[in-house]
Amino acid sequence: MVAWSSRNGKQTRMQLRIRMLLSVFAICSALTCCASQAQEQVDFDTYFQDQALRFEFFLFGKKSESKVVQGPVVQESSWPGPRKQLVFPFPYGKNAVRVYDQASDKLIYSYGFDTLLSEYATTPPAAQGKWRSVPISVRIPKPKARFRIEILERLKDNRWATLWSEEIKTSDRGILRESADQRGAVFELHKTGEPKDRLDLVFLAEGYTASEQEKFQADAQRMTQFMFEHEPFRKHRARMNVVGVFRDSYESGVDEPDKRVYRNSALNASFNSLGIDRYLLTEDGHALKRYAAQVPYDTIVVLVNSKRYGGGAICLDYCVTTVDDPRSEAVFLHEFAHSLAYLADEYIGAVTYSDLYPEGVEPVEPNITRELDRENIKWRPLLSQEVPLPTPKDFSGQSQGQAPVVGAFEGGGYLRTGMYRPQRSCAMGDGLEPFQFCVVCQEAIERMIEYYAPSQSE
Ligand SMILES: [Zn+2]
Repeated sequence: MVAWSSRNGKQTRMQLRIRMLLSVFAICSALTCCASQAQEQVDFDTYFQDQALRFEFFLFGKKSESKVVQGPVVQESSWPGPRKQLVFPFPYGKNAVRVYDQASDKLIYSYGFDTLLSEYATTPPAAQGKWRSVPISVRIPKPKARFRIEILERLKDNRWATLWSEEIKTSDRGILRESADQRGAVFELHKTGEPKDRLDLVFLAEGYTASEQEKFQADAQRMTQFMFEHEPFRKHRARMNVVGVFRDSYESGVDEPDKRVYRNSALNASFNSLGIDRYLLTEDGHALKRYAAQVPYDTIVVLVNSKRYGGGAICLDYCVTTVDDPRSEAVFLHEFAHSLAYLADEYIGAVTYSDLYPEGVEPVEPNITRELDRENIKWRPLLSQEVPLPTPKDFSGQSQGQAPVVGAFEGGGYLRTGMYRPQRSCAMGDGLEPFQFCVVCQEAIERMIEYYAPSQSE
């Protein structure tokens, strides 16, 4: 997911094409629920140890074709992730990992995620047959017994294809049992409980030299404060832990290829991902997860020491933001909502490409829809009374109290027509000032907080 575009900024045909194709892919991903959704949940202690296994993979892909090659498997000292909902309860993700108990063939863990490759696959170079590789890391709780792990990909017709599968003995000597690198400086920013019962956010320093450690700490504190000033994070702050990990970079800043600026930084973050000026990512998913492994974490935010506007998110994996643009706090929370809760962009692209979107296919993202039937619209419990669908821009009705109307406002997911968002304004759209998530986005974030930090664990 790309950071907001500047409203007055010029976009190249290439950028528009990429955004358009990203949206096509999102819609193509719709209508498929994770096959595991209906399955009864799994008892953690029956099947798992309090350790994690981190699988490093290389994904290779071009348009309509991708491959997975396995790298090292690394054991981590604890599993800070969910223990109640081990089978992923959401329909999200263009890829998925599934773990089966070998003896019973029971699905005991699953999780959905996106990768940069699924975005790359929609670009012109991929369409021209040019392969590229993306290093990713996938972490699972460590099973007690022999297991099978699968990496799947959601196809455009919404079936799942298994890209890779392997049977693994937990005693396999090839599993690397080395200690995590503890040389980074750790700052505890907000501590409320044990990592296994909390949503654990880690800020990683990128592009800060050794002399800029205090600046990183101040930047991470500023982002934490901004997050807890906004709902739904404010009311759930007791269900989150926040830490910062600092490793120095050899040079200050990160790569900006469009300006011929190159910096040797800890995570090799770079602007211009996929050729988009403001798209800032760190594409090395191996280095990223090795860095984060110093602390227990559920979700990663990379803070990039730069004044330039930019950010990016790989949904259900990590997000990146700069820290010194006037809009950096807002970019952080917008990108974090992508990566944490699979929220779609609600803003509208500069050009309408609705003719390229197949009718009748509903995106899986929780905050945009093509559905206008009030009995079936995904946020129907939140609809304002007697609100017309679609909802006219100037509809003056009010929901209970003075809250803004919840309906179906046309425009979202980069599309001007045929796609609808819940409220006029939202931080996932153009609702920058004041920064506020719409009620549907808030609820989607709350569901994800509940996934990581079940309320009965408080
Ligand atoms: Zn929203």
